[in-house]
Amino acid sequence: MLISLPDAQAHVLERVAPLEPRAVWTVGAVGCVLAETVTSPEDVPPFANTAMDGYAVRAADVATATPDAPVELPVVAEVAAGHPADRALGAGEAMRIFTGAPIPDGADAVVMVEHTQRLDAGARVAIDEVVPVGEAVRAAGSDLRVGETVFEPGELLGAGHLGVLAGIGVGEVRVHPRLRVGVLSTGDELVEAGQPLAPGLIRDSNRATLLALVAQHGWQAVDLGLIRDDEAAITAAIGHGAGSCDAVLTSGGVSMGDIDLVKVVLDRIGDMRWMQIAIRPAKPFAFGLVDGTPVLGLPGNPVSSMVSFELLARPALRRMAGHARVLRPEVPAVAAEAFHRRPDGKTHFVRVTAERDGDGVLQVRSAGGQGSHQLTAMAKAHALLPLADGDGVELGASVRILLLADI
Ligand code: AMP
Ligand code: MG
Repeated sequence: MLISLPDAQAHVLERVAPLEPRAVWTVGAVGCVLAETVTSPEDVPPFANTAMDGYAVRAADVATATPDAPVELPVVAEVAAGHPADRALGAGEAMRIFTGAPIPDGADAVVMVEHTQRLDAGARVAIDEVVPVGEAVRAAGSDLRVGETVFEPGELLGAGHLGVLAGIGVGEVRVHPRLRVGVLSTGDELVEAGQPLAPGLIRDSNRATLLALVAQHGWQAVDLGLIRDDEAAITAAIGHGAGSCDAVLTSGGVSMGDIDLVKVVLDRIGDMRWMQIAIRPAKPFAFGLVDGTPVLGLPGNPVSSMVSFELLARPALRRMAGHARVLRPEVPAVAAEAFHRRPDGKTHFVRVTAERDGDGVLQVRSAGGQGSHQLTAMAKAHALLPLADGDGVELGASVRILLLADI
């Protein structure tokens, strides 16, 4: 009996949970999902400072300045970033000031250097522009105030976030830890890259793909090796993976055949559900919990294993990583060619390229051969185009796609 993709996804997502939050060094938290509310322990910036190179003044002292009748002021000090003035600015005085330097006490504006002229070897300055109070002054706390909420739980920590956390001196954050995902492939027909092919043998491509997919998502990929179609070997490998990783991805051995041993092993050692999903490619799929660790049994055909990762493993892993949104958004596009198919009770996921036309509309075309062994088209695809059961779509049809790549 075929089950629908949403049912299969729901089955998996109900059985995985976000990893227990843990405090980690902020510098190592990029790509992790925050599990706490961060409030700022400091004002940012911590003191008023200048956004420009120029002269710190009292705005009232230059209130009459024009290009024809500049105001001349004595320059009583220089203040650079990291070197605050050692005295206050008095009425009728200016201080030379450089970007990032603290605004001296007594000053309330900065005239940018372009509106000034240095006189008497820097002892005086002529200012040819009126400035409002606060000109070029970055007030203390104008980015963040002490006690202000900076980030909420669920925020994915990117480069900017790490900068903000460093900027408020937060050295440790509670996050859902980076997933460790084990990957193994199964099959007596498989040889490692670098080994010679013999009659009837093919190279193991799925393990490379799946390890790379895991790494691309910012998770730690653990190579559990190429395992023979041998029940004991598969049992040992899955057991080892389940004991040392947060989740395990297997490839192969979940079809209808008698030598589809991943299915057999998972059934024996884990709480397993084997599914036939109403999709093409990637119909067979097994999901089991082995000692509480999710094991996702992906099909062996190279395209199927990638599509299965995309539709089933990725959402599960994203949930474990703490993401609230686990499925890819569907993006509107237009069929730049007809996509015909036959009714068979399944949703077909066509590997397509997507390019923006002059109006910014995504135009999708087949990425190449659509056999489940034809990985080249999958590698080149920017998106999967779901075609609902039926005859397909005509040229010019509005469709929705799952974008896999930045385009
Ligand atoms: P299976 O799911 O084990 O029945 O395999 C289905 C098809 O995928 C067969 O043609 C296998 O030879 C092929 N296959 C299985 N595992 C891999 C792999 N790791 N790399 C490339 N092809 C594979
Ligand atoms: Mg096999």
